[in-house]
Amino acid sequence: MKASIKLQKLPTQFFAALAQKVSAAISEGRDIINLGQGNPDRQTPAHIIKALQSTAEDPQNHKYSPFQGIQELKEAAANFYKREYNVDIDPNTEVAILGGTKTGLVELPMAILNPGDYMLLPDPGYPDYLSGAVLGDVYYDTFPLIEENGFLPDYKALSPEVKERAKLIYLNYPNNPTGGTADLSFFEETVAFAKENDIAVVHDFAYGALGFDGVQPVSFLQAEGAKEVGIEFYTLSKTYNMAGWRVGFAVGNKDIIAAINLIQDHLFCSLFPAVQHAAAAALNGDQSCVEEQRAIYESRRNVLIEEAHRIGWDVKAPKGSFFAWLKVPNGFTSEEFTNLLLEKANVAVASGNGFGEYGEGYVRVGLLVSEERMKEAIMRIEKLGLFKG
Ligand code: PLP
Repeated sequence: MKASIKLQKLPTQFFAALAQKVSAAISEGRDIINLGQGNPDRQTPAHIIKALQSTAEDPQNHKYSPFQGIQELKEAAANFYKREYNVDIDPNTEVAILGGTKTGLVELPMAILNPGDYMLLPDPGYPDYLSGAVLGDVYYDTFPLIEENGFLPDYKALSPEVKERAKLIYLNYPNNPTGGTADLSFFEETVAFAKENDIAVVHDFAYGALGFDGVQPVSFLQAEGAKEVGIEFYTLSKTYNMAGWRVGFAVGNKDIIAAINLIQDHLFCSLFPAVQHAAAAALNGDQSCVEEQRAIYESRRNVLIEEAHRIGWDVKAPKGSFFAWLKVPNGFTSEEFTNLLLEKANVAVASGNGFGEYGEGYVRVGLLVSEERMKEAIMRIEKLGLFKG
């Protein structure tokens, strides 16, 4: 039996395909330096693991728990937003607990749009936003994120037709894949744009803890009126190295949160409560691990950019996230360059065109290996003799 007509419209999941290619190369015995995927390479801090261990044995945590998340975690999410961003969140009506934010990001069109509606997606952008359009039976227009605009959308450049039909816009800063960042004035402009055109806003704040060169990432909800128009997703995957634990949350507009929670009621019967206790411990506990982690990514970024410049690769340093968005050398498409790096240098990167049309001409490099391996990756690329040096 074949997959449904709807599912047949889903492209092969970009990162699943990339992971397969890399594992095939590794299984041939090759020493691949994997800069392709966004999988944090460091451990979850010990106090978070301890919080899991101390709650995992309690039989109370072996049962179904409240469908919409345990109270302790909802309150931890609200306290986190107050402490970090001075944003007031009602833990009872303005938080949705999720098994990773990917779930919520994909469910959102199903939660608040109707079949045939349009949404606006960034190009380049995180590929799973597109999956949400297919599964939610909605259409999308895209807006370009280009270097000259600091990888921010230019709302004024959108056509009246596109603005008229859009019901929801996806934003993500610090940005995957470009490493671009947004400031408060951009989010204020976004709230004004959303109100003027009656468009809901979703901000994906996955890299909220990762700003470089003194940039402190700003929450969308810090903009006045943001809660009237939208929500923000926050994952624990990156901030606390908890990608495998599958836990995150959404906060903001209570009607949108209620719609997400309704889907959660039907699709999930809560996360493992011990994971939720551990997530609360991460949000409430000592935050020094977050700064330590950020500094490690910044040093790796510095190594990458210095080494790239040393070999004559003219690339720009990202201001946030744990990705660098590097221009491919002249004469190559993104895919050709990506394949060449994998086949001839044993270095895996993500081809920019996988993130959209405007990703052509770029590759995404993850800052997810040690400084030594990062140097080694650039040395291997240098040996290909593509740059003037
Ligand atoms: N949003 C962005 C921009 C991401 O890069 C990722 C993961 O790579 C996610 C969301 C998904 O995060 P989670 O682990 O919470 O599902």
